[in-house]
Amino acid sequence: MNAKSTFFPVIIAGGGPAGMATSLTLSARGVPHALIEASDSAKPKPGEAIPPNAKPLFRQLGIDHLLESEQHTPYYGNLSAWGQPDFATREFLEDRFGAGVLLDRALFEQDLRTALHPHFCQTFFGYKLPKVTATPDGVEVQAERGTHRLHLQCRYVVDATGRKSSICRHLGVQKQTLDQQFALCCWVRHERSIPRNIYIESVPGGWWYAAPVAPDCLGLMFFTLKSLLPSPQLSEPFIQQQLRETVQLRLLLGEEYTILPNVKTVPAGSSHLPRAFGAQWLAVGDAAYTFDPISSYGITSALASGYYGGHALADALAGKTDGFMAYHYIVSNAYAAYYQKLVHHYQQETRWPEAAYWAGRFEAEVVT
Ligand SMILES: Cc1cc2nc3c(=O)[nH]c(=O)nc-3n(C[C@H](O)[C@H](O)[C@H](O)COP(=O)(O)OP(=O)(O)OC[C@H]3O[C@@H](n4cnc5c(N)ncnc54)[C@H](O)[C@@H]3O)c2cc1C
Repeated sequence: MNAKSTFFPVIIAGGGPAGMATSLTLSARGVPHALIEASDSAKPKPGEAIPPNAKPLFRQLGIDHLLESEQHTPYYGNLSAWGQPDFATREFLEDRFGAGVLLDRALFEQDLRTALHPHFCQTFFGYKLPKVTATPDGVEVQAERGTHRLHLQCRYVVDATGRKSSICRHLGVQKQTLDQQFALCCWVRHERSIPRNIYIESVPGGWWYAAPVAPDCLGLMFFTLKSLLPSPQLSEPFIQQQLRETVQLRLLLGEEYTILPNVKTVPAGSSHLPRAFGAQWLAVGDAAYTFDPISSYGITSALASGYYGGHALADALAGKTDGFMAYHYIVSNAYAAYYQKLVHHYQQETRWPEAAYWAGRFEAEVVT
């Protein structure tokens, strides 16, 4: 190995929820490590809904207090017009964990940064990773910030880089993509008072998700297939046209609303690695498994896989490499269960069997 490199037992690439949960767990197990994150400061990302049953995991990771900020707001139920034109309601009144939480995502990720343990975790924010090379006894990592270059080495590298799975790609490991769903994301300013729920409505071209991000503003996402996306300059008229297809969302918004500029288009389908670890690496969060946002499961799963993955790494460094297989077993089983529920959920919408989005939305297949 290169004598000028700095060595860490573990290097985590990516500082989203999965990378942060891995770091918190490694610190709790006393494992020194480095965390490299591309962005200098936390940025807003799509996805903010934390269902009530995720709260025990936040407690387990010691970050439940982060949900208490007033900038995160409660939501009280899911209203879903799926398979029928009317809303079916699932209120959380009876839920033993109380209301769900709509995160101010940038604030949440910034707060996660301050929760890291400086004694165990050396952070490199604003660094990209142009080169990651596996060697017989570990991994060599090059990190760059402008013209500043770092040479690091580790026994294990953690891919927590999100959907792109950048580290796996460097190491020649391919993800399997199960569908080509994309989301158009925007904000809509409205006049009416809208109760604090999450609203889902399916239409022939896909489905809508709406969440109140402020008293006069809904975060809207329209999910459709890549092949049905408009060209970027036509995103706004496309959103308007798809909104006109809705029954319930139009009633909620009324006549007076404005779609704010900057409609963003992002991938939003399901995908997975055939195996979430190798001899020198482990993948957590979206880098290992991506979830259809209909499940509201992405952030929770990212935190959970960081937790289990962190323990597997600490065990492996102590000579117990079975932990990697146990990790893979836990996360792949959770994903297989998710996928089965997902297929069942999509099969509940039978109104437009000929429409391109719904026709064969999923051929049920086994995920291992
Ligand atoms: C449209 C949409 C709506 C969603 N809605 C919800 C929702 O309501 N509820 C929910 O729970 N989930 C939702 N999700 C999913 C959720 O946002 C993700 O599952 C979650 O962010 C995954 O966390 P992560 O840490 O694995 O990845 P990310 O949050 O993507 O973090 C990865 C980090 O790695 C960094 N990075 C990338 N490449 C490099 C590199 N080469 N070097 C260093 N750093 C790098 C990035 O800057 C980023 O900060 C949604 C997703 C989409 C697309």
